[in-house]
Amino acid sequence: MADKYSAVWVSHSSMGDFLKCPRLYYLHNVYKNPKTGKKINLVSPALSLGSAVHEVVEGLADYPAEKRFENPTELLERFEKVWEKFSGKKGGFKTEDEETEAKARGIQMIKRVIENPGPLKEKIIKLKDGSNGMLPNFYLSEKDNIILCGRIDWLEYKTEDDSIHILDFKTGKNGEKEESLQLPIYQLLLNKLQKRKVSGASYWYLDSENEPKEVSLPNLEESYDRVYKVAKEVSDARARALKEGAEKVFICPRGEAGCFGCAPFEKILRGEAESLGTGEWGQEMYLV
Ligand code: SF4
Repeated sequence: MADKYSAVWVSHSSMGDFLKCPRLYYLHNVYKNPKTGKKINLVSPALSLGSAVHEVVEGLADYPAEKRFENPTELLERFEKVWEKFSGKKGGFKTEDEETEAKARGIQMIKRVIENPGPLKEKIIKLKDGSNGMLPNFYLSEKDNIILCGRIDWLEYKTEDDSIHILDFKTGKNGEKEESLQLPIYQLLLNKLQKRKVSGASYWYLDSENEPKEVSLPNLEESYDRVYKVAKEVSDARARALKEGAEKVFICPRGEAGCFGCAPFEKILRGEAESLGTGEWGQEMYLV
């Protein structure tokens, strides 16, 4: 029988790691510190900036549509408060200048939203979390015991045709790659976890654009095939690792030389990173 605790959970982030490299996937998603039994993760300025902006902008969903921009300065005050969690080393900032620059970019993004609220003033729908506070999820394949999970930034409700428009906030400088599984994953989650039609999707590059850019939605069947293919590869690799040992399965294609992708995680394994305690999801957080 299917069992959520023994299932292989896959997400946009974990499958993205796997597609980049098996060892990167292993270090970021499977490896546990043998002394503590906890997974490991890194703090970084880019992730901290993204998390702070996302928390403030997505926090607007807690208010009724007509109240979200009643007091715009409140949004900046919220950003200041949220930033405290990421200030200094715990946000991956090694110098004051580095933090000041990142924080200034965050403030600019929040100001951009205040001046151009666009779809954020409209009605939304919310996807319920899974049980025990887990991310929204469903069985991508009961036969293979694979669960797909993910949180979608913003879901605008379109009253004219009772549909949903996906909105994803981007805080980095790079565009989403064409082969990205993000939209296919969102489409599958929405198709399974709620009843309304998905009528469109947009990416909002908050660092440079005053409004979201519409992107085309993939075909649902193709989405399933693409996501399942990668998820099954992940699941098969994990099954092989149980039999043969992770070191034999999750191998770096560059051998000893490696690359910058895993370098920070390898430093943690060698005991060369600074421990920052436990993160939000129970992993050990490190500064490299
Ligand atoms: S070190 Fe680089 S090449 Fe090797 S597994 Fe990690 S990301 Fe891939």
